[in-house]
Amino acid sequence: MSVVFKNMYHPVTVTGVQYLNEQLKKIRFEGDLSKTKFTPGNVVEFRVTPNDFRHYTPAYFNTATGVCEIIFYLHNKGAGSDWAKQLKEGDTVKLLGPGGKLSYVAGFKHHFVFGDETAIGLMNCIQREAEENGHSSFALMEAQEAHRDWIRLFSAQPAECVASSFQYPADFAIRFLSDSAEDWMAAIPDTCFYLTGRAKSILAMRKYLLSKGVAMKQIKTEPYWAEGKKGL
Ligand SMILES: Cc1cc2nc3c(=O)[nH]c(=O)nc-3n(C[C@H](O)[C@H](O)[C@H](O)COP(=O)(O)OP(=O)(O)OC[C@H]3O[C@@H](n4cnc5c(N)ncnc54)[C@H](O)[C@@H]3O)c2cc1C
Repeated sequence: MSVVFKNMYHPVTVTGVQYLNEQLKKIRFEGDLSKTKFTPGNVVEFRVTPNDFRHYTPAYFNTATGVCEIIFYLHNKGAGSDWAKQLKEGDTVKLLGPGGKLSYVAGFKHHFVFGDETAIGLMNCIQREAEENGHSSFALMEAQEAHRDWIRLFSAQPAECVASSFQYPADFAIRFLSDSAEDWMAAIPDTCFYLTGRAKSILAMRKYLLSKGVAMKQIKTEPYWAEGKKGL
């Protein structure tokens, strides 16, 4: 595969490593990205073992300066997490992409991002793009109870973090939206909803939004992980 797609692979070097906390590792990659095109929401791919590839979402991507920053959630449950954990300054890796089906839709005035610990990079990226376009954004994060204060670590504001529930996907997030319905429902026609993170949470959130009158074309989904599945 890497021979066939060699023109889509971009060698990049790790030029910065910052632990936002024990399980969130922000990595800065630099290389020649001048031939790439990036829209916030797009993803890149890395080969994490000889046989495995994993997707990640740049929190920042600049084709002109050749910089790509990713926030990795080190959950210690798979090859991608192990790979990200051992990355260090000076390492050279191949970046595939960017691409993917999710991208910022500039035709909307308001941008709502839902996700979990894996979506912090996306939330930052969408927020920056919204600011640059004079739009508004809101990030709703569901996270394990012990990770609830992670919301303070990143710049996406306004933002809210609720607990995630393994048994009842997106339940607390939906409750939060129901409780604050007066604040956001009037803006529905001008809002784009980006749903990411756990596949089951996306399904539940999508169902809820549709029940509130959000049109299907306003909802963009991209599952980032699913229990029992490897490397979506
Ligand atoms: C389009 C896309 C964009 C993504 N962007 C990012 C990103 O910017 N940052 C980031 O950290 N991750 C991101 N992810 C998710 C990341 O690719 C997954 O965490 C991926 O599953 C990690 O691969 P892995 O080899 O560590 O685990 P896998 O081998 O894929 O999964 C092994 C098992 O671990 C469990 N698992 C996987 N992920 C999680 C999780 N988040 N929480 C709890 N249990 C889990 C599941 O039970 C799974 O069966 C993205 C995924 C996709 C598809």
